[in-house]
Amino acid sequence: MITGGCFCGAVKYRIDGRLRDARSCHCSRCRKAFSAQASAYALVEPDEFSWLCGEELLTSYTSSGGFGLRFCKICGSTVCGTFRQQVHGVTLGCVDGDPEVEIGMHIYVASKAAWEKIPEGVTQFAEAPPP
Ligand SMILES: [Zn+2]
Ligand SMILES: [Zn+2]
Repeated sequence: MITGGCFCGAVKYRIDGRLRDARSCHCSRCRKAFSAQASAYALVEPDEFSWLCGEELLTSYTSSGGFGLRFCKICGSTVCGTFRQQVHGVTLGCVDGDPEVEIGMHIYVASKAAWEKIPEGVTQFAEAPPP
């Protein structure tokens, strides 16, 4: 079982399954959405995800194409992503411990922030990964 939660601890979740497709997107939208140099995000099976506490403290923002983010309204941590209101993935920064998954690719590195240095040796794509 994988668990995660927000910075203040009011929001917690569990995943009875595995994370998959962990990736980091360096586009300007993800920088804003994740308040960081890039996103760090992995997909979950929606029916393996459940809230342990604090679901009522979540607020959300839906951007284009039905994708959204949910965050703790006390501390502001972005805890998960949604697609058409259903949990779609989690932010790796809010996962507890070792979820036994590694970021497999860095995408949209051509749009990275001027101040970011991408480590050598990582799998990277200038824009979207090949299908
Ligand atoms: Zn919080
Ligand atoms: Zn992005």
